[in-house]
Amino acid sequence: MPEIAAMVNHPPLKTALPAAEGCPALLVEGLSAGYPGARSAIRNISFAVQPGESVAVLGPNGAGKSTLFKAIVGLIPHTSGYISMYGEECAASHRLIGYVPQYEAIDWRFPVSVRDVVMMGRARQLGWLRWPGRRDWEAVDAELERVGMLAFRNRQIGQLSGGQRRRVFIARALAQQTSVLLLDEPFSGVDAAAGEEIMAVLESLHDQGVTIILATHDMSLAASRFDRLLLINQEVIAYGTSAEVFTTEALSRAYRGQIGIIRQGAETVVVVDEHGPAGGDNGEG
Ligand code: ADP
Repeated sequence: MPEIAAMVNHPPLKTALPAAEGCPALLVEGLSAGYPGARSAIRNISFAVQPGESVAVLGPNGAGKSTLFKAIVGLIPHTSGYISMYGEECAASHRLIGYVPQYEAIDWRFPVSVRDVVMMGRARQLGWLRWPGRRDWEAVDAELERVGMLAFRNRQIGQLSGGQRRRVFIARALAQQTSVLLLDEPFSGVDAAAGEEIMAVLESLHDQGVTIILATHDMSLAASRFDRLLLINQEVIAYGTSAEVFTTEALSRAYRGQIGIIRQGAETVVVVDEHGPAGGDNGEG
């Protein structure tokens, strides 16, 4: 994969915020949020992510993974709790976190080039009244190189494959000059090869010290390629290493009727049926 190999040599990471000694990159404390006319989709969510950690967020459909991400970046208001980054409280961290929304939330028919998409991530550096200059375009190209997409910089976004489009959106998030990325199901709808390319990009960024928080349904990927797992179903069910999170008790609480646990000698096989009886409501209040 020559494009991926191109990511290895990159300029030093620039961050919008200094990493205060001992402070988590992201601290979420008692966060509750929801939608008008409905009860809270997420309740009392607390977790801390240390700088440079990778965290996979798991839970059944409707568990509140997207809602949690939207509340963290301020796309929806939270009704209680607070968020801080590197020890600084922020009402909404949308300017400070690089957010990659769900693929389906983006209109891919919009006629813009790959470079233009990534330049949108530099809105904060550009301000309202300045046109992008040479330095801005160089910064955009540097981010495209980090995700192995520099060769595609003049293409229209609509001409790219699903996996390539996701990598361009990772570059757009990085162009905010952030060291914290929040990705909402970046593997959904891509084939195994494209998924592996995205994962290779993320692991390269992880090696560069970027903090990565990613929602996924892929339990085995989460267990094998991420530092910690956050299992939620409206509230936090478990947070920790895969051994701490993948317990029969935690999985049964999170997935309820959607899960089957099969023991084969020393091995335990977990089967999740996302189309089984409803997730998203754990029936507690
Ligand atoms: P997940 O990402 O884990 O599948 P979501 O955060 O999308 O879960 O959904 C959590 C809950 O919030 C679900 O019950 C869902 O129906 C509800 N929900 C999500 N988006 C909206 C919306 N725009 N308006 C009203 N309810 C919503």
